[in-house]
Parts: sequence; structure tokens; C-alpha cells
Amino acid sequence: MEITIKIFRYNPEKDKRGHHEVYKVEGNENDRVLDILENIKGNHDGALSFRRSCAHGVCGSCGMRINGRNHLACKTLVRDIGAEITVEPLLGLKIVKDLIVDMDPFFENYKEMMPYFINDSPLPENGRERLQSPEDRARFDDTTKCILCACCTTSCPSYWANGNYYGPAAIVAAHRFIFDSRDEAASERLQILAETDGTARCHTAYNCTEACPREIQITKAIGEVKLAQVTGTLK
Ligand code: SF4
Repeated sequence: MEITIKIFRYNPEKDKRGHHEVYKVEGNENDRVLDILENIKGNHDGALSFRRSCAHGVCGSCGMRINGRNHLACKTLVRDIGAEITVEPLLGLKIVKDLIVDMDPFFENYKEMMPYFINDSPLPENGRERLQSPEDRARFDDTTKCILCACCTTSCPSYWANGNYYGPAAIVAAHRFIFDSRDEAASERLQILAETDGTARCHTAYNCTEACPREIQITKAIGEVKLAQVTGTLK
């Protein structure tokens, strides 16, 4: 079958602004958008630039806008979206070249959440582990699945309006540790998210939840963080 793909192109060394280029390539309905991009880069235009790594929905590198919605190119099949495809960079982050955006602000927000285990108390006498019940582990299971693809944050209208907003992905990272019964820094993270650019900027648009390739219930997680901020409890 013939696939028509319109790709956003921008080379800051040559272009004043971005434009779209149309390619017609042979493919089949089981091709992924990433396969088509690889085909074009390998056989038609080696200058085409996009991020990719694992190609199996794990690394989070190939997040992009496909037919107007954020997806991973490696998980998006022609049979699901049709043979007329438009591919553009994620919104809300500076375009570096073609489909590559500057992820630095995204990762800066992530780092602000202290996305690592904090517990300075002595280890239990009996050994080397801080035990946790299955129920306590389940409390934050969903938010452990994040692969930092940025599809959620860059689909959020509040983030588009104000890039200082920490954004859904950062709050997901915070949630993962705030609700971990073994961690001791929940109150610090909740305090950070109580700042002007924290959870107050979430207006429950649900775009993040729809965009997440890991099907994390992001809006629910943000709601749980908001509730913890109001009630002061983690239950
Ligand atoms: Fe990507 Fe989902 Fe993580 Fe957001 S929460 S960065 S959409 S995996």
C-alpha cells in the first residue's frame, strides 16, 4: 500500500521557520510510524532528524505528535491511524531540529521532584530490607510505569500556557515517591508542588491521561497529590 506522510521539517541553520514535507512510500498496515520514518531517513532523506532508541515502547525517546495527538512512534501502527499521516514535534518545548525538541526543561522539572528514594533512618535490625505490604506497594504501582516520554506534559494546555508549570510527568514522578510508605520526604515534595507552578496549575483537562502510552491514570494521580496537600494525609 502507498503511505503518504507529511513531516514537519526545521533546520535552524537554514530555515527561518518550519514547514512540512510530504513523502509517499510503500508500506503495509502493520508498519509503525517509526518504521516509516526509518525508511525515509535510510532511503529518501538522511537529514531527517528524530529521536529513537529501543523501538519497543520502553525507552520513551520517540514521543511525537502523530495526526495531532501525542504518541510513541514505535507503538503507533498504520492500521490504527490510516495511510495519511502527519508527524510533528511535541508542543511546548523548543524545536532543536525537525522532530527533535529540547527536553532539558522537562528533565529539570523532573529533577525538582527528587525522584529517588529518601530514607535516612537506620535499617531494620533484622537485615537489609525495608519491608512493605503488598497493599502499600500497590498504592504507587501505577506511577512506577512512567518512561519519561513527555507525551503527557506536552499535551497539557496549562503547560503550553506556562512552561514554568512542573507538568504532569513531574507530578507522576513525585507521586511515585510521595505514596511509597518507605520514603521519608513526602512532605518536602508536597511543599514543592504547593508552589505557584505546582498542582494548582492542573485544571483537570485529562489530555495527559489520554496521551500516556503507558496508560497511567495521570489525572487521578495528580488528584491524589492534591488531596494529600489539602488533608495532610497519604491515605
Ligand atoms: Fe510518558 Fe506517561 Fe510518563 Fe507522562 S506519565 S512521561 S505520558 S509515560
